[in-house]
Parts: sequence; C-alpha cells; structure tokens
Amino acid sequence: VDVEKVAVIGSGNWGTVIARMLGTNVVQQKGFDHEIKMWVYEEMVGERKLTELINEKHENVKYLPGVSIPENVIAVPDLLEAAEGATILVIVIPHQFVNDICGKLKGKVHPKAKAVSLVKGFDTTQSGIRPISHVIKEALKIPVCTLSGANLANEISEEKFSETTIGYKNRQEGELFKRLFETKYFKVGIVDDVLGVELCGALKNVIAIGAGIVDGLKLGDNTKAAIIRIGLLEMKKYIKMFYKGIKDETFFESCGIADVITTCYGGRNRKAAEAFVVTGKSFEQLEKELLNGQKLQGTLTAKEIYSVLQRKGLEKEFPLFTTVYKIVSEGLDPHKIVEDIV
Ligand code: NAD
Ligand code: 13P
Ligand code: CA
Repeated sequence: VDVEKVAVIGSGNWGTVIARMLGTNVVQQKGFDHEIKMWVYEEMVGERKLTELINEKHENVKYLPGVSIPENVIAVPDLLEAAEGATILVIVIPHQFVNDICGKLKGKVHPKAKAVSLVKGFDTTQSGIRPISHVIKEALKIPVCTLSGANLANEISEEKFSETTIGYKNRQEGELFKRLFETKYFKVGIVDDVLGVELCGALKNVIAIGAGIVDGLKLGDNTKAAIIRIGLLEMKKYIKMFYKGIKDETFFESCGIADVITTCYGGRNRKAAEAFVVTGKSFEQLEKELLNGQKLQGTLTAKEIYSVLQRKGLEKEFPLFTTVYKIVSEGLDPHKIVEDIV
C-alpha cells in the first residue's frame, strides 16, 4: 500500500482520544491519507445527533467534553461508509459490541486492510470465550495487532505522558502501527505477542473491580496492594494456562503491571466498584449516573472468566477472580474479598 488510510471504529472516551492523536499524526507522518473517518454509534444528545455535533464543534460533547478533535477527523454514523477504503482499521469499542460490528463489516473491508484492536475483554460464544483479536481476524480475514497499556483516556487527552504496548505477529505491522500511534507523550513499545498484550488488558479490569471493592470498604492501601499483587499472579496464571506462546516479559510492559496499577487507582472500573459497595446501586445504574453512558468492561469480563473457571472446576485456583465475580453478580458480601483470597 502506498498511502495508508485510517478509519477509527468507535468514538467513546478512549476512541475519541485516539482519533484526536491519530488526526494529528497522519498529517505529520509520511505515508498516511490525511483524512480519518471515525465511526460513531449514533445517538441523540438533546435535540441533536452526536455525529452532527462532533463535525460542527470538533469535540465529542458526550464522551470527551472540553477536548478538541482535529478537523481532518470526520464523524460518520454509517459503519460501512466509515470503513470504506480503509487499509488500517483501529477498533476501539466496548468488547460486548465487537462480534456484532465485525459481523456487519464481514466481506466489506479493503483487501489490504489490517486491524489494530484496542478493545479490552472477551467474546462469549456457545462453547466458551475467545479473545477479541480472534473475533476480528475470523470475521474479517485480516491480520490483527493489539494495543493496550496504562492509558486512562482523560489523562492522555491532556497530553500527559504515558507508555503503551503494541503486540504484533508480523514485525513490519508492529512498526507501522508504532509510527501511526506514537507521539511525544505516548510512547509505544512493540512486542511479538498479540495475545499477551490483549489478554493482560482484558483481565486487569477484573482486578480493578476488586480494587474498587476494597476502596469502597475503606480497607486502605495495604489491602489494595494485596489485591494488585494477587490479581497480577492470577492474571498471569490464567493467561499462561489457557493460551500458548505468551511471553513472560509482556507482563512487565505497559500492558501488564502498569495497566493493572493505573486502572486500580484511576479507572472507571475501580470507581464504579467503589460506588457499588458504598451506595448499593447496580452497575447498570452506575454506568448511567456515574459514567454518563461510558461502558464498564470489568463486570462482564469477571463473568466471562468465571464461566471458564466454573466449567473447568478451577474456582479455588483463582480465588480473587472468583470472589470478584460472586460479589458483583451473585450478591456475595463484599467483605469476602479479603476472607476468600487468603
Ligand atoms: P466508552 O465506554 O467511553 O463509551 C461507550 C461507547 O459505546 C460509546 O461510543 C457508545 O456510543 C458506544 N455504544 C453504545 N451502545 C453501543 C452499541 N449497541 N453498539 C456499538 N457501540 C455502542 O468507550 P471507550 O472508553 O472508547 O472504550 C472502548 C474500549 O477501549 C473498551 O474495551 C475499553 O476497555 C478500552 N479502553 C478504554 C480506556 C479509557 O480510559 N476509556 C483506555 C484504554 C482502553
Ligand atoms: P477503565 O475502563 O477502568 O477506566 O480502564 C481504562 C484503561 O483501560 C486504562 O488503561
Ligand atoms: Ca458473541
């Protein structure tokens, strides 16, 4: 491909920050078309369509208010129109919607297209769960890299420094994506481990729910550090048990330990789990009230993981993941979080 054309599929909190960064980068780097289409799940904001507001104000007033988006990023409500002609698909939507979106894109993407998935979570199938990168690859028959890291979107929208990790299978693709994503304040490491990068990003959200629970119980920093330590070990054990070829080093990249830490201190999963314990409100209600329509990934991921642990009789080997699931979905007393993991 002479000129790579980028489409961003998704426009939530992280999707919008990514579109903002890529909008600037495609103009500064060689070899990229200067226009980026960003697919927006259309909704009304007051009397207006969100896509119209974004294109008029160059701001995502719902999911990233107060931050400007470059004018070469065009919000598009039609999925196929957004993806048309794109040689790079940046997939950044809540994980529960990926299967549906990929189904709609099936057979419709550019023959030279490649994808990079920024999605954190698993897809649920009839026989179990599968990584999101597999969903994309199987539906679209294109190569897929992954990008994940300690990347709270709001901080990056303010151009505060962070690192991230790209997992590649083919090094050239890893290097292409590094060129596309890297900025002065967004440092990209690349590793030959597509699944390791993605799976750390999915599982750390369950640990962050645990961290939010201990915050809600006001158990203090030592307890939270214990949750983080035990969570990291379960994350590594789960990934190694069920997937082949995962590299130990991946757990020490931004996508591993660093993302666990940042999400356990500053993430939406932590925040909502704390409020769940303090207020007794449901997670559905908290998503609306506390997150203004942004989506939690950790509660669903806890369920996805638990379905596997239960089927295989492994609950006792993963006490933190199991207890987090039972607290958020089965009404188990939150205090069990410390009783059951020791
Ligand atoms: P978000 O949670 O802020 O927003 C939810 C998005 O889902 C909105 O764009 C909304 O329009 C869309 N949506 C609602 N219903 C839909 C439907 N039926 N079909 C399709 N889309 C629908 O989104 P986000 O923060 O961009 O998160 C996307 C992914 O990126 C998640 O997997 C998340 O874990 C990951 N991520 C987020 C952050 C962050 O700080 N926000 C950082 C790193 C990774
Ligand atoms: P939350 O979804 O919990 O905000 O986590 C964001 C994230 O993935 C940071 O890397
Ligand atoms: Ca499914």
